[in-house]
Amino acid sequence: MKILVTGGLGYIGSHAIVQLLISNHEITIIDNLSNSQKETHKKIKDITGKNSDFYKIDTTNYAKLDNLCEKHNFDAVIHFAGYKAVGESINEPLKYYFNNLLSTINIAKLAIKYDINTIIFSSSATVYGNGESPFTEKSPLLERTNPYGETKAMCERILIDTQKAYPNLSLFLLRYFNPIGAHKSGLLGEIPNGIPNNLVPYITQVAKGKREKLQIYGNDYNTPDGTGIRDYIHVVDLAKGHVSALESNRTGINIYNLGTGKGTSVLELVNAFEKVNNIKIPFEIVSRRPGDIAVSYADVSKAKRELGWEAKLTLEDMVEDAWNFEKNLKKEENKND
Ligand code: NAD
Ligand code: UDP
Repeated sequence: MKILVTGGLGYIGSHAIVQLLISNHEITIIDNLSNSQKETHKKIKDITGKNSDFYKIDTTNYAKLDNLCEKHNFDAVIHFAGYKAVGESINEPLKYYFNNLLSTINIAKLAIKYDINTIIFSSSATVYGNGESPFTEKSPLLERTNPYGETKAMCERILIDTQKAYPNLSLFLLRYFNPIGAHKSGLLGEIPNGIPNNLVPYITQVAKGKREKLQIYGNDYNTPDGTGIRDYIHVVDLAKGHVSALESNRTGINIYNLGTGKGTSVLELVNAFEKVNNIKIPFEIVSRRPGDIAVSYADVSKAKRELGWEAKLTLEDMVEDAWNFEKNLKKEENKND
């Protein structure tokens, strides 16, 4: 299929493109490089040996997108482009509402205008708010604690309403749990901007000696060891979920949790990292991070049943590959040196 991938040079998008190229799809990437590097395009080629097109286009720029869609006959669009930093979204909400909502509206408009059959949207477990795990796709969408999460819930709504008005459109809302890890080659992975907000990028920077110690946000949650529990999924498994959705030929509105179905605590993750990589991670327990929930993990049975997809890689694979990527990162590639 001919696929437009927005935000395709980012962390998840680049891994998804590798899998899509392996499955022989024809890929056009657009990205404004606000949180990615142009060199990633070449790395995708190095890994797959296959070509893809790249255009530096901002998804909020309707005219440029329109011009691109007019020239191509896309069968599907996978929409990764967006801002994702929770803390920043609290301080700069309008930046988040503008970028994430306008990009999604533009993609939906163009899908209708050019008869692009399928939209796959990057949603998040954050739409479930402070609800009860395991989350199923039928779990209520409770109040989000930050504007980033709110943009995901709003974009879901926008796309669902669009699909209802244009029933020929196949819509996939993929709710990612906690993607971590990196491509085995060490070429693709996550390069956080500034001090990492997320647990695993922080741990790998401590392992590298860039940060002194990890702060664990609270050990007084109602969990077996008191630290927060999340459903960590290897980014390569997550990437494959997009291929499964695309190739399923399903119609209508399709919502799937993409996770492993297993919860792992912060301390369990730190222990796994130390054991697999044989590196000590110094840490201190500090107070809870505002907005964090105690436990979040997925019920993944729907994706398995309907898409035939399930995560295969283990927590050990995830922490090994995350460290392999950080270890090989050259100084000039690191945005926070
Ligand atoms: P990322 O920041 O690495 O990738 C997003 C890409 O989109 C970047 O390359 C960035 O340059 C680009 N981009 C942003 N705004 C753009 C615009 N207006 N026009 C063109 N390009 C633009 O993030 P990621 O981790 O790969 O996440 C991809 C998607 O998945 C995002 O929508 C994110 O909200 C969602 N998501 C991520 C996670 C996670 O933990 N990483 C979890 C749930 C959902
Ligand atoms: N966490 C932590 N220290 C950090 C970053 C995260 O203890 O420096 C904890 C956080 O409280 C949560 C888990 O690690 O329980 C995963 O956090 P992350 O930000 O990676 O994902 P999210 O909170 O978005 O699920």
